[in-house]
Amino acid sequence: MTENISEALRYLVIKVLAGDFVTLHSLKEYLVDGESPSVLSHKYRVGKFKLRGYIQRVLEKAGNYRVAQHIVKTSYTYLSGLSPIVVRVPRGYYCTACEKPITMNPERHIRLEHKDLVNRIVAECMRAAVKRSGP
Ligand SMILES: [Zn+2]
Repeated sequence: MTENISEALRYLVIKVLAGDFVTLHSLKEYLVDGESPSVLSHKYRVGKFKLRGYIQRVLEKAGNYRVAQHIVKTSYTYLSGLSPIVVRVPRGYYCTACEKPITMNPERHIRLEHKDLVNRIVAECMRAAVKRSGP
């Protein structure tokens, strides 16, 4: 269960560090606020199938709906306040942590090169998730 939580968090943390906040916001609005995928797809201009895909990935990693809901509920404020480390530039992407342009997919770059940072943020969110589930 702990492993499921950290895997689901890792997925969200990497997306946020890559500058993709849409997944985080739409997951929160879907899982916590009960908004429908079609409304969110319209609001964030993301294809409905793509959006359902993101939601499905997090649900699979979390193991079930309740766990996914708890993860998003406890980490949303912290994650939405993070600054991305990869920014879009005219010819592709630039990593502010490496201070150089990157040619590969930003999420892949973060997963491969910034494992320590990702682990630190995941650990921070885990603390919140575990604390909030207590009595
Ligand atoms: Zn980098």
